Amino acid sequence: MRKLSEEEIIDLFKKNNAYWVHSGNPEDPHVELTNGYCSNGYFNCSSILRFPMINELLAECICSKLINAGIEDNYPEWVVGSSYAAITISYEVARKLGTEYAFAEKSDTPKEFTFKRWTIPEGAIVLQIEELITTLQTVTAVREAIEKHNKYRVEFLPMIGTIIFRPSSFSNKYFIGKQEIDIISLFQKEVWAVAKKDCPLCNSGSIRYRPKHNWSLLK
Ligand SMILES: [Zn+2]
Repeated sequence: MRKLSEEEIIDLFKKNNAYWVHSGNPEDPHVELTNGYCSNGYFNCSSILRFPMINELLAECICSKLINAGIEDNYPEWVVGSSYAAITISYEVARKLGTEYAFAEKSDTPKEFTFKRWTIPEGAIVLQIEELITTLQTVTAVREAIEKHNKYRVEFLPMIGTIIFRPSSFSNKYFIGKQEIDIISLFQKEVWAVAKKDCPLCNSGSIRYRPKHNWSLLK
């Protein structure tokens, strides 16, 4: 299968109304996120991942980057993703790598996960895959669920794969607990999100829109 360049992947997102970044002109509109915050960027992976073929294609690209990053030195035995948005892409990565697969399930407590459906064997090497990483909150919560609910201790790889990495600001180093990790993404972009009262674009007169239903109004 042909691998896509970063430009082609971004293009694929744009064609499916799944990628928008503010132009930099303070008069151009910006987005209102589901949580009510304003932002200068918006990515909608669900709009892309509804195509099984695209899951397969993006998984191929993630695997290729993971291999370039040295994953074969400590080859994973399991791939784990969060639910629900990350399930299809993480499953496809597991299939490409030839590993076993599981996902952490949403807990009744917000932002927490459980891991009770599967048992990962003692000492198994586990790779985490997500569709989108903003902060490391979800990958940390998935890891905590496995540490809490899996019968055995497992070994988490110090790298995480994702389609998009969009932190509020890039850092030289990333950590989950005490483990330093590499974030392997197909593309990355710094994107801020702030309350309306603190939004520089609202303050400069830019209009904000909910992106899903106002795509044509976003320049
Ligand atoms: Zn705003």
